[in-house]
Amino acid sequence: MKIQGIRPQYVEQLPDKMEEGVLYICEEFDLTAHKCCCGCGEDVYNKIGPARWRLTKMPDGTVSLYPSVGNWKYACKSHYCIRKNRVIDAGPMSARAIEAVQQRDRQDRDKYIASINAQPDFEHSMNLWRRTRVLFTSILHRIKTLWPWRLRTEKGDRQ
Ligand SMILES: [Zn+2]
Repeated sequence: MKIQGIRPQYVEQLPDKMEEGVLYICEEFDLTAHKCCCGCGEDVYNKIGPARWRLTKMPDGTVSLYPSVGNWKYACKSHYCIRKNRVIDAGPMSARAIEAVQQRDRQDRDKYIASINAQPDFEHSMNLWRRTRVLFTSILHRIKTLWPWRLRTEKGDRQ
């Protein structure tokens, strides 16, 4: 295994270009991602959750990923364990296990992409709401300052 150690990095969103030897942990999406530890350059995604992968954080800051990572969809077909930031070669896996991993990986990636794509819509509507609120507040302010009755009352209060 080319990469023998991996260090966790907590991110809000996965970077477009990942670095080797870094396990990106996106807690908001329960997702980890890293460059395949064999050094082939492929991006590997592991979803955290029941019946998926389990990420264990140690008090010293190291992490472990259970079960092992099997990259059967890639040419390298590498299979390894991540234990306390160490990458341990795990040897070959059965054909059935390979198929299960492949299917799970596809679903996870699709879900992640869908959730990322859903964000701009939310952001757009929030901006629209913010702009509307700002406009409304400025109109209200103008009415207040131009209203003669209101001005007189304010002067009266000051005296
Ligand atoms: Zn690889």
